[in-house]
Amino acid sequence: MSAYPHIFQPLDLGFTQLRNRIVMGSMHTGLEDKPEHFDKLAAYFEERARGGVGLIVTGGFSPNAEGDLIPAGSKLVDESQLPWHRLVTEAVHRHDSKILLQLLHAGRYGYTPACVSASDIKSPISPFRPKAMSGEEVWQTIRDYGRAARLARQAGYDGVEIMGSEGYLITQMISLRTNQREDEWGGSYENRIRFALEVVREIRRQAGEDFILMFRLSMLDLVEGGSTHAEIVQLAQALETEGVNILNSGIGWHEARVPTIVTSVPRAAFAEVTANIRQQVKIPVVASNRINMPDVAEAVLASGQADLISMARPMLADPDWVAKAALGQADEINTCIACNQACLDHTFENKLSSCLVNPRACNETRLQYLAAEQVKKVAVIGAGPAGLACAVVAAQRGHQVTIFEAREQIGGQFNLAAKIPGKEEFLETIRYFRTMISKLGIELKLACRASAAELQQAGFEEVVVATGVQPRIPELPGVDHAKVVSYQQLLAEGRQLGGRVAIMGAGGIGFDVAEYLSLEGKSPSLDAELWRAEWGVDISSQQAGGLTRPHIEPSPRKLYLLQRKTSSMGKGLNKTTGWVHKAAMKMKQVEMITGANYLSIDDQGLHIEVTDGDAVQQRLLDVDHIVLCTGQESVNSLYQELQAAEPAFGLHLIGGAEKAGELDAKRAIKMASELAAQL
Ligand code: NAP
Ligand code: SF4
Repeated sequence: MSAYPHIFQPLDLGFTQLRNRIVMGSMHTGLEDKPEHFDKLAAYFEERARGGVGLIVTGGFSPNAEGDLIPAGSKLVDESQLPWHRLVTEAVHRHDSKILLQLLHAGRYGYTPACVSASDIKSPISPFRPKAMSGEEVWQTIRDYGRAARLARQAGYDGVEIMGSEGYLITQMISLRTNQREDEWGGSYENRIRFALEVVREIRRQAGEDFILMFRLSMLDLVEGGSTHAEIVQLAQALETEGVNILNSGIGWHEARVPTIVTSVPRAAFAEVTANIRQQVKIPVVASNRINMPDVAEAVLASGQADLISMARPMLADPDWVAKAALGQADEINTCIACNQACLDHTFENKLSSCLVNPRACNETRLQYLAAEQVKKVAVIGAGPAGLACAVVAAQRGHQVTIFEAREQIGGQFNLAAKIPGKEEFLETIRYFRTMISKLGIELKLACRASAAELQQAGFEEVVVATGVQPRIPELPGVDHAKVVSYQQLLAEGRQLGGRVAIMGAGGIGFDVAEYLSLEGKSPSLDAELWRAEWGVDISSQQAGGLTRPHIEPSPRKLYLLQRKTSSMGKGLNKTTGWVHKAAMKMKQVEMITGANYLSIDDQGLHIEVTDGDAVQQRLLDVDHIVLCTGQESVNSLYQELQAAEPAFGLHLIGGAEKAGELDAKRAIKMASELAAQL
């Protein structure tokens, strides 16, 4: 008996069946954009199909050039492209999975001057003003959707997903916010949804009946002027009447100022939205957004909120997610922590996607963990993310691995990250490594500071030093005052701070500490109702767009966040998550001070000089405590000692110990895994 009976129930669509209820949701990886990458795309999907996913949806392909996301972006427009796509469909079909091509016309989100939309209204997230399509161009676009679906069928896809959410063209045609046309495509709601319905009709006409048609419906727009629940139900029922087989959930336009997928969004926070639509239609409905573990997926299915579960990023993090769930080995799942750092942030930087916790994602043909030709005795010093990743990959390849960790627990900096409200997912990565250490028979020596002499005598053939970082303590009069704590002392030791606190340094950790201190242990991420109240989300969509007035719990203390740079605060934060942290600071009324020159710390507080243009002003921040978030320094004395001794074993330095300036789990895990693949 499966621990997850609802997940593993097949789904009969009449003309075809899905082997289970797990959908690998669409995720643009960048591999779709160039024909020479399709062999990598096929390997990437094949690994997920082999891992047991029931239904895969590709990244977005435009039905025509006007719908490009980026100049010369992915599109399916003629038969010459079919051989590339067949690599993908054949790879997936070798493993009893089904695959849909996603049809995505970017509309005004196209990062190209040639973009088009319902009206010539610029989006707040793109520099390009779209051209309003003429009536004939609208019809041509509909025919292009049909052509793309026909080509998809010829290429061996089992169907298509029509991207009708997230603020792309179809939603632009539906919403008054973006559609101010006066012809048959504008005005009344019936006119504005006509485009979506004509697209469905044309796809059916050109691609046939026995072809899966999934429509990603914007069930909660989260923008002003978005649809109401009654309107969304009207569209859902009309789509059902037109022969759509499955409705997928779209949550929030890309320009929405409410986070929908970042790690601080509670798990399954939007499943109720899907449930509200499911009650109004008879076709299967898919839930999505922040569902990353089998127990959450099973609960959503078992409670009748949805018929299927879509996960995109969790499938990057672990291609064997479904297989592990099927075997009751959920604790071996390498969980997506919803950080976006190697996937969506890469997309926005025009880089190929991968995954912070699984650097093999989208690199399946390049980074392979093959069985070691010669089994070696490997020592890994340090059980932070870099050391753990290296140890696990080396052991998976068959090496005999010992980890030495000076502290009493594994996880390194991830233990600190997990203390931040909204970053609880980091505990999952630590759990994954703990499980793998035990499963792979890795010897773990906790509270054990390995010495150079011991390592040299123990007969290791490879020694990997991953001793991490320590907080940087800036040179400043009074920095040793009792008011001063490092972020490490604050988070690891749980120091209690006073009602007025200054945070020096506004990098990722400075922002995290500000959030920690403004929430005082209360994590809205673990309480969906509280989270929705803070962000002003009305999941019943009684109000247009599902927005309501936010109810913000004030910070229990006055906080200052400071940086020396005069550039805007939070500029260096990650693209897709930085705005959420900045919005949170605004909500909690954290005072941001840029251009700060730190003068001294004494009983009175923190003395600074603030430069604003040509003006320089002296200020005293009369705070009870000052938290240092001023970066890190490498801890690598053991490495230097070993190197000086010219050891007989292979010696390697990875992670923050190698480069503190770029302390970054993505880089650390990638570097560690690549090294372990070579040992
Ligand atoms: P960071 O981003 O390098 O920030 C440290 C800050 O301290 C700098 O912004 C710098 O700003 C200031 N600083 C540096 N040297 C100083 C000195 N001698 N005196 C006073 N101020 C000094 O590093 P972090 O915040 O420690 O984060 C480390 C890494 O963790 C990041 O690179 C990131 O990869 C990861 N992380 C990311 C996030 C996230 O994105 N949400 C969250 C946590 C951690 P000024 O020089 O302008 O003052
Ligand atoms: Fe998930 Fe982060 Fe990996 Fe993206 S990079 S798939 S968000 S763990």
